[in-house]
Amino acid sequence: MQHKLIPLLVLFIAGHLCRTFSAAFRQELGKMADTVYQSLKGEVPQALAPNPGPVKRSGHFSTILEQVLDGLDAGDTSLQPHVVHITEEFVTIHDGYPKAAVHLLVLPRRVRIAALEKLTHEHLPLLMRLSAYVAWLMEQVEGKPGDPGVGWTHGLHSVPSLRQLHVHVLSMDFESPCMKKAKHFSSFLPPFLVSLDTVVARMQEGGFSHRSLQELEDAMNKRRLCCHRCGVDFGRGFAELKRHLSSCSATPKTFWPMPRLWRDQRGCKRSIESESCDDGAVIDLT
Ligand code: AMP
Repeated sequence: MQHKLIPLLVLFIAGHLCRTFSAAFRQELGKMADTVYQSLKGEVPQALAPNPGPVKRSGHFSTILEQVLDGLDAGDTSLQPHVVHITEEFVTIHDGYPKAAVHLLVLPRRVRIAALEKLTHEHLPLLMRLSAYVAWLMEQVEGKPGDPGVGWTHGLHSVPSLRQLHVHVLSMDFESPCMKKAKHFSSFLPPFLVSLDTVVARMQEGGFSHRSLQELEDAMNKRRLCCHRCGVDFGRGFAELKRHLSSCSATPKTFWPMPRLWRDQRGCKRSIESESCDDGAVIDLT
Protein backbone atom coordinates (compact mmCIF):
# COMPACT_ATOMS: atom_id res chain seq x y z
CA MET A 1 0.00 0.00 0.00
CA GLN A 2 2.78 2.37 1.05
CA HIS A 3 4.79 1.89 -2.16
CA LYS A 4 1.70 2.82 -4.20
CA LEU A 5 1.67 6.21 -2.53
CA ILE A 6 5.28 7.01 -3.49
CA PRO A 7 4.56 8.01 -7.16
CA LEU A 8 1.73 10.24 -5.92
CA LEU A 9 4.06 11.84 -3.40
CA VAL A 10 6.71 12.40 -6.08
CA LEU A 11 4.10 13.99 -8.35
CA PHE A 12 2.88 16.21 -5.55
CA ILE A 13 6.43 17.39 -4.71
CA ALA A 14 7.28 17.93 -8.41
CA GLY A 15 4.11 19.98 -8.89
CA HIS A 16 4.89 22.05 -5.83
CA LEU A 17 8.47 22.69 -7.01
CA CYS A 18 7.23 23.65 -10.50
CA ARG A 19 4.76 26.12 -9.03
CA THR A 20 7.44 27.56 -6.75
CA PHE A 21 9.91 27.93 -9.63
CA SER A 22 7.37 29.44 -12.01
CA ALA A 23 6.24 31.87 -9.28
CA ALA A 24 9.90 32.78 -8.73
CA PHE A 25 10.37 33.13 -12.50
CA ARG A 26 7.38 35.45 -12.76
CA GLN A 27 8.62 37.44 -9.81
CA GLU A 28 11.98 37.84 -11.56
CA LEU A 29 10.24 39.01 -14.75
CA GLY A 30 8.16 41.48 -12.75
CA LYS A 31 11.31 42.92 -11.18
CA MET A 32 12.96 43.25 -14.60
CA ALA A 33 9.93 45.06 -15.98
CA ASP A 34 9.92 47.34 -12.96
CA THR A 35 13.52 48.28 -13.75
CA VAL A 36 12.35 49.39 -17.22
CA TYR A 37 9.55 51.43 -15.66
CA GLN A 38 11.84 53.04 -13.05
CA SER A 39 14.44 53.93 -15.67
CA LEU A 40 11.78 55.77 -17.71
CA LYS A 41 10.40 57.89 -14.90
CA GLY A 42 11.17 61.54 -15.40
CA GLU A 43 11.53 61.37 -19.18
CA VAL A 44 8.76 63.23 -20.94
CA PRO A 45 7.91 62.24 -24.54
CA GLN A 46 6.57 64.81 -26.97
CA ALA A 47 3.61 62.47 -27.19
CA LEU A 48 0.96 64.80 -28.41
CA ALA A 49 3.01 66.56 -31.10
CA PRO A 50 1.24 66.78 -34.48
CA ASN A 51 0.82 63.52 -36.38
CA PRO A 52 2.81 63.75 -39.65
CA GLY A 53 0.65 61.08 -41.38
CA PRO A 54 1.75 57.76 -42.85
CA VAL A 55 5.37 56.71 -43.15
CA LYS A 56 6.12 56.54 -46.88
CA ARG A 57 8.19 53.58 -48.05
CA SER A 58 8.36 51.62 -51.29
CA GLY A 59 8.04 48.03 -49.98
CA HIS A 60 4.85 46.04 -49.42
CA PHE A 61 2.48 47.88 -47.05
CA SER A 62 2.48 45.00 -44.57
CA THR A 63 6.22 45.46 -43.95
CA ILE A 64 6.08 49.17 -43.15
CA LEU A 65 6.82 48.72 -39.42
CA GLU A 66 9.77 46.45 -40.17
CA GLN A 67 11.02 49.11 -42.59
CA VAL A 68 10.62 51.76 -39.87
CA LEU A 69 12.77 49.65 -37.53
CA ASP A 70 15.39 49.15 -40.24
CA GLY A 71 15.36 52.89 -40.97
CA LEU A 72 15.81 53.78 -37.30
CA ASP A 73 18.77 51.42 -37.03
CA ALA A 74 20.28 52.97 -40.15
CA GLY A 75 19.88 56.50 -38.67
CA ASP A 76 17.23 57.62 -41.20
CA THR A 77 16.44 61.17 -40.01
CA SER A 78 13.29 61.43 -42.17
CA LEU A 79 11.62 59.19 -39.56
CA GLN A 80 12.12 61.68 -36.74
CA PRO A 81 8.71 63.43 -37.04
CA HIS A 82 7.00 60.05 -36.77
CA VAL A 83 8.80 59.07 -33.56
CA VAL A 84 7.10 60.05 -30.33
CA HIS A 85 9.49 58.31 -27.96
CA ILE A 86 12.35 55.87 -28.32
CA THR A 87 14.46 53.71 -26.03
CA GLU A 88 17.08 51.12 -26.83
CA GLU A 89 14.37 48.44 -26.73
CA PHE A 90 11.08 50.10 -27.79
CA VAL A 91 9.85 52.83 -30.09
CA THR A 92 6.54 54.69 -30.12
CA ILE A 93 5.42 56.21 -33.41
CA HIS A 94 2.31 58.01 -34.61
CA ASP A 95 -0.20 55.77 -36.34
CA GLY A 96 -0.21 57.19 -39.88
CA TYR A 97 -3.96 56.64 -40.31
CA PRO A 98 -5.13 57.50 -36.78
CA LYS A 99 -8.53 56.20 -35.68
CA ALA A 100 -8.71 58.67 -32.78
CA ALA A 101 -7.51 62.17 -31.92
CA VAL A 102 -4.28 60.62 -30.65
CA HIS A 103 -3.25 57.18 -31.89
CA LEU A 104 0.20 55.72 -31.24
CA LEU A 105 1.91 52.43 -32.08
CA VAL A 106 4.46 50.87 -29.72
CA LEU A 107 6.96 48.39 -31.21
CA PRO A 108 9.81 46.29 -29.85
CA ARG A 109 12.96 47.28 -31.76
CA ARG A 110 15.31 44.36 -31.24
CA VAL A 111 13.12 41.31 -31.66
CA ARG A 112 11.10 40.62 -34.79
CA ILE A 113 7.77 38.92 -34.10
CA ALA A 114 5.41 38.81 -37.07
CA ALA A 115 2.16 38.57 -35.09
CA LEU A 116 0.47 37.35 -31.89
CA GLU A 117 0.39 33.73 -33.01
CA LYS A 118 4.19 33.73 -33.32
CA LEU A 119 4.67 34.58 -29.65
CA THR A 120 6.07 31.85 -27.43
CA HIS A 121 6.77 31.41 -23.74
CA GLU A 122 10.29 32.71 -24.45
CA HIS A 123 8.85 36.13 -25.26
CA LEU A 124 7.43 36.55 -21.74
CA PRO A 125 10.33 38.68 -20.45
CA LEU A 126 9.96 40.98 -23.48
CA LEU A 127 6.18 41.16 -23.03
CA MET A 128 6.58 42.09 -19.36
CA ARG A 129 9.00 44.90 -20.23
CA LEU A 130 6.74 46.02 -23.07
CA SER A 131 3.83 46.12 -20.60
CA ALA A 132 5.85 48.31 -18.23
CA TYR A 133 6.79 50.61 -21.11
CA VAL A 134 3.17 50.92 -22.34
CA ALA A 135 1.93 51.60 -18.78
CA TRP A 136 4.53 54.35 -18.45
CA LEU A 137 3.62 55.82 -21.86
CA MET A 138 -0.09 55.90 -20.99
CA GLU A 139 0.70 57.71 -17.76
CA GLN A 140 2.72 60.27 -19.73
CA VAL A 141 0.12 61.08 -22.39
CA GLU A 142 -2.79 61.39 -19.98
CA GLY A 143 -3.57 65.05 -19.35
CA LYS A 144 -1.00 66.40 -21.81
CA PRO A 145 -2.05 69.32 -24.02
CA GLY A 146 -3.88 67.69 -26.92
CA ASP A 147 -5.36 64.91 -24.76
CA PRO A 148 -9.08 64.94 -25.67
CA GLY A 149 -9.78 63.97 -22.04
CA VAL A 150 -12.05 60.99 -22.71
CA GLY A 151 -9.66 58.32 -21.45
CA TRP A 152 -7.20 56.03 -23.19
CA THR A 153 -7.07 52.43 -24.21
CA HIS A 154 -4.43 50.06 -25.49
CA GLY A 155 -4.31 46.68 -27.14
CA LEU A 156 -3.19 44.47 -29.98
CA HIS A 157 -5.24 43.41 -32.96
CA SER A 158 -5.86 39.66 -32.91
CA VAL A 159 -5.20 39.50 -36.64
CA PRO A 160 -3.05 42.52 -37.54
CA SER A 161 -2.55 43.89 -41.04
CA LEU A 162 1.11 44.85 -40.48
CA ARG A 163 4.01 42.58 -39.59
CA GLN A 164 5.98 43.15 -36.38
CA LEU A 165 4.27 43.03 -33.00
CA HIS A 166 2.74 46.44 -32.18
CA VAL A 167 0.53 47.78 -29.42
CA HIS A 168 -2.06 50.44 -30.21
CA VAL A 169 -2.37 53.24 -27.63
CA LEU A 170 -5.22 55.60 -28.44
CA SER A 171 -7.59 58.15 -26.98
CA MET A 172 -11.14 56.84 -26.62
CA ASP A 173 -12.89 59.47 -28.75
CA PHE A 174 -12.48 57.16 -31.82
CA GLU A 175 -13.04 60.20 -33.97
CA SER A 176 -10.91 60.75 -37.03
CA PRO A 177 -11.23 61.28 -40.78
CA CYS A 178 -9.34 57.95 -41.10
CA MET A 179 -12.19 56.11 -39.35
CA LYS A 180 -13.85 55.19 -42.64
CA LYS A 181 -15.50 51.81 -42.23
CA ALA A 182 -17.09 49.58 -39.65
CA LYS A 183 -13.98 47.44 -39.22
CA HIS A 184 -11.94 50.53 -38.32
CA PHE A 185 -14.25 51.03 -35.37
CA SER A 186 -14.92 47.47 -34.30
CA SER A 187 -11.28 46.43 -34.44
CA PHE A 188 -10.59 48.79 -31.53
CA LEU A 189 -13.12 47.06 -29.30
CA PRO A 190 -12.78 43.72 -27.53
CA PRO A 191 -12.73 40.89 -28.43
CA PHE A 192 -10.65 41.72 -31.53
CA LEU A 193 -8.57 44.17 -29.52
CA VAL A 194 -6.62 42.21 -26.91
CA SER A 195 -4.98 43.79 -23.85
CA LEU A 196 -1.32 43.25 -23.04
CA ASP A 197 -2.28 41.63 -19.73
CA THR A 198 -4.31 39.06 -21.63
CA VAL A 199 -1.40 38.42 -23.98
CA VAL A 200 0.92 37.85 -20.99
CA ALA A 201 -1.63 35.61 -19.26
CA ARG A 202 -2.17 33.60 -22.45
CA MET A 203 1.59 33.13 -22.87
CA GLN A 204 1.72 31.67 -19.36
CA GLU A 205 -0.98 29.24 -20.40
CA GLY A 206 0.45 28.16 -23.77
CA GLY A 207 -0.14 31.00 -26.24
CA PHE A 208 -2.56 31.79 -29.04
CA SER A 209 -3.44 29.34 -31.75
CA HIS A 210 -4.16 30.53 -35.28
CA ARG A 211 -7.70 29.22 -34.82
CA SER A 212 -8.36 31.07 -31.54
CA LEU A 213 -7.28 34.36 -33.15
CA GLN A 214 -9.41 33.69 -36.19
CA GLU A 215 -12.36 33.14 -33.86
CA LEU A 216 -11.80 36.56 -32.32
CA GLU A 217 -11.93 38.06 -35.80
CA ASP A 218 -15.13 36.16 -36.57
CA ALA A 219 -16.63 37.41 -33.30
CA MET A 220 -15.76 40.97 -34.28
CA ASN A 221 -17.43 40.56 -37.65
CA LYS A 222 -20.63 39.35 -35.99
CA ARG A 223 -21.03 42.13 -33.46
CA ARG A 224 -23.35 45.07 -33.89
CA LEU A 225 -22.17 48.67 -34.15
CA CYS A 226 -22.80 50.21 -30.74
CA CYS A 227 -21.38 53.46 -29.46
CA HIS A 228 -18.61 52.56 -27.01
CA ARG A 229 -19.45 55.71 -25.03
CA CYS A 230 -23.21 55.57 -24.48
CA GLY A 231 -24.12 52.12 -25.84
CA VAL A 232 -26.62 53.26 -28.52
CA ASP A 233 -27.01 50.47 -31.08
CA PHE A 234 -26.66 51.41 -34.76
CA GLY A 235 -26.92 47.88 -36.11
CA ARG A 236 -24.90 47.96 -39.32
CA GLY A 237 -25.22 51.72 -39.78
CA PHE A 238 -21.63 52.89 -39.78
CA ALA A 239 -22.45 56.35 -41.22
CA GLU A 240 -24.97 56.90 -38.41
CA LEU A 241 -22.49 55.69 -35.80
CA LYS A 242 -19.79 58.00 -37.15
CA ARG A 243 -22.14 61.00 -37.05
CA HIS A 244 -23.12 60.06 -33.53
CA LEU A 245 -19.49 59.73 -32.36
CA SER A 246 -18.86 63.36 -33.28
CA SER A 247 -21.52 64.53 -30.83
CA CYS A 248 -21.66 61.86 -28.09
CA SER A 249 -20.41 63.28 -24.82
CA ALA A 250 -20.86 60.25 -22.55
CA THR A 251 -17.72 59.15 -20.73
CA PRO A 252 -16.44 55.92 -22.33
CA LYS A 253 -16.11 52.94 -20.03
CA THR A 254 -12.53 51.67 -20.16
CA PHE A 255 -12.24 48.17 -21.62
CA TRP A 256 -9.46 47.24 -19.18
CA PRO A 257 -6.88 48.98 -17.03
CA MET A 258 -3.47 49.93 -18.35
CA PRO A 259 -1.07 46.94 -18.28
CA ARG A 260 -0.58 45.79 -14.69
CA LEU A 261 0.24 42.07 -14.68
CA TRP A 262 3.93 42.97 -14.86
CA ARG A 263 3.53 44.62 -11.46
CA ASP A 264 1.86 41.56 -10.01
CA GLN A 265 4.64 39.75 -8.19
CA ARG A 266 2.42 36.72 -7.82
CA GLY A 267 2.03 36.38 -11.60
CA CYS A 268 -1.74 36.05 -11.43
CA LYS A 269 -3.25 34.34 -14.45
CA ARG A 270 -6.75 35.82 -14.52
CA SER A 271 -8.09 37.37 -17.70
CA ILE A 272 -8.29 41.10 -17.11
CA GLU A 273 -10.87 41.57 -19.89
CA SER A 274 -13.38 39.36 -18.17
CA GLU A 275 -13.12 41.51 -15.04
CA SER A 276 -13.95 44.86 -16.47
CA CYS A 277 -15.25 44.62 -20.01
CA ASP A 278 -18.89 44.88 -20.79
CA ASP A 279 -18.96 42.19 -23.42
CA GLY A 280 -22.50 42.87 -24.54
CA ALA A 281 -23.63 42.46 -28.14
CA VAL A 282 -21.97 45.19 -30.13
CA ILE A 283 -21.16 44.73 -33.76
CA ASP A 284 -22.88 42.78 -36.47
CA LEU A 285 -21.29 43.52 -39.80
CA THR A 286 -22.96 40.72 -41.67
P1 AMP B 1 -2.92 46.48 -37.30
O1 AMP B 1 -1.79 45.84 -38.08
O2 AMP B 1 -4.26 46.14 -37.83
O3 AMP B 1 -2.83 46.24 -35.82
O4 AMP B 1 -2.78 48.05 -37.45
C1 AMP B 1 -1.77 48.67 -38.17
C2 AMP B 1 -1.85 50.16 -37.96
O5 AMP B 1 -0.80 50.75 -38.71
C3 AMP B 1 -3.15 50.78 -38.43
O6 AMP B 1 -3.79 51.41 -37.33
C4 AMP B 1 -2.74 51.73 -39.53
O7 AMP B 1 -3.44 52.94 -39.47
C5 AMP B 1 -1.26 51.95 -39.29
N1 AMP B 1 -0.49 52.17 -40.52
C6 AMP B 1 -0.66 51.52 -41.68
N2 AMP B 1 0.23 51.98 -42.60
C7 AMP B 1 0.96 52.94 -41.97
C8 AMP B 1 2.02 53.80 -42.39
N3 AMP B 1 2.49 53.77 -43.63
N4 AMP B 1 2.52 54.67 -41.48
C9 AMP B 1 2.06 54.71 -40.23
N5 AMP B 1 1.06 53.93 -39.78
C10 AMP B 1 0.51 53.06 -40.63
